[in-house]
Amino acid sequence: MPHFKVAIVGAGPAGYFAAQALQNLANEEQSFSIDMIERLPTPWGLVRSGVAPDHPKIKTVSKVFEKIANTENFRLFANVEVGADITVAQLQEKYDAVIIATGSSIGKKLGIPGEELRGSLSAAVFVPWYNAHPDFVGVDTPLDADTAVVIGAGNVAMDVARMLALEPSELDPTDTADHAIDALKKSNIRKVYISARRGPEHAAFTSPELRELPKLEHTNVVMRKEDIEAAIVRAGSEPEKDVKSNLDAMLLIAENPKSEHERTMEFLFQHTPKEILGTDRVEGVIYSTPNGDVTIKCGLVITAIGYQAQGIVGVPYENGKVVNTDGRVNGNMYVVGWAKRGPSGVIGTNKSDAAAVIELLVSDLKSPKNAGDISELLSHKVVVTQELWQKINEAEVTAGEPKGKPRVKSVERTELLKHAGL
Ligand SMILES: Cc1cc2nc3c(=O)[nH]c(=O)nc-3n(C[C@H](O)[C@H](O)[C@H](O)COP(=O)(O)OP(=O)(O)OC[C@H]3O[C@@H](n4cnc5c(N)ncnc54)[C@H](O)[C@@H]3O)c2cc1C
Repeated sequence: MPHFKVAIVGAGPAGYFAAQALQNLANEEQSFSIDMIERLPTPWGLVRSGVAPDHPKIKTVSKVFEKIANTENFRLFANVEVGADITVAQLQEKYDAVIIATGSSIGKKLGIPGEELRGSLSAAVFVPWYNAHPDFVGVDTPLDADTAVVIGAGNVAMDVARMLALEPSELDPTDTADHAIDALKKSNIRKVYISARRGPEHAAFTSPELRELPKLEHTNVVMRKEDIEAAIVRAGSEPEKDVKSNLDAMLLIAENPKSEHERTMEFLFQHTPKEILGTDRVEGVIYSTPNGDVTIKCGLVITAIGYQAQGIVGVPYENGKVVNTDGRVNGNMYVVGWAKRGPSGVIGTNKSDAAAVIELLVSDLKSPKNAGDISELLSHKVVVTQELWQKINEAEVTAGEPKGKPRVKSVERTELLKHAGL
């Protein structure tokens, strides 16, 4: 029976779902060994470093990932960066197939004046900062002004606005990084605008997330009823299901009686940012609107307008994604997840997407190479295996127990490796 070796680069949802699809296709005629390589000492991709900490239920998908990882013929090589510690060409030589599942981690820029000022950040930097990603511990996040602006009309923008507008003690029972909870408790921000270039009918928010907003206990959520009613008219009598569901949710927010909370999150539609104002740091944003230019004073601007993939030598890219045809890249290289499709869809979207790519990959396999694997190339590296990751996981969960948190995340790489006994 042929036994094929497959390398998966990136331990995010797409990587795990690709591994699961391979495991599901193993039978009496073919079997697979899977080596998953991850640049961080910790796996789970954006489920650990992206998903908002006040949404812990979403993170329970990590149980599925652990089940996949604790299956025979699966090995984790974390703390190993492809492109730095080992090359894609080396992987292609040793493995029957190589799957790129490295996601999309660079924030897109607005390309307007003032974007480089202090206090102007991308969500691609701010989100991993509050989620304890080791590469973003020292990010400068000035929270001393009373107003912040979040630019973008998707769920990432909404997560960021919510994190800034929440009463920070609500984050105590979550796995938000300790440094972020401390900073948010000292924050002077009381007003958070979330601005969208187009009208409510075009927003990419999803309705479950919108429906949650009025439940915020310490924050007013404001949408102008006129904006939503005009959008309902523009959307016509037969809007798409998702659009209708969003507009219904927005109307509920707009009709929600205003409360007297100290903190407010307000949506601005049809506001196109033209310039970020300031000399040494952000002082405001000029928007063009259907009623002329409007200036909003603020000390922090966070842009959440999409992501593009970080390049790896040996992998072809175009428009922020890996060049591919239905997941086939070239030779024995394949791509799944956000690196393939760009930043769209929920965690579950990566499952069906990966399964389709794996079906093609398996149909391309001929006879096994038997060319060894990467362990001999990594003798110089400190590798976090599945067993060692479980020690890190256990240490974090144990540290969270007395504090009523799901875990206390360690931020420094050295501390993470120490948990693993390395
Ligand atoms: C802020 C934010 C919030 C989100 N919230 C939700 C939500 O609430 N619900 C939901 O369903 N979806 C949510 N999503 C979407 C979801 O996170 C994505 O659909 C999913 O994570 C994409 O999976 P991926 O595996 O393609 O990428 P990722 O999750 O980014 O995983 C890629 C992995 O590859 C690793 N990697 C990168 N380069 C290398 C390299 N050179 N060598 C080795 N490893 C490498 C990375 O460290 C990472 O672990 C959110 C996304 C973001 C950005």
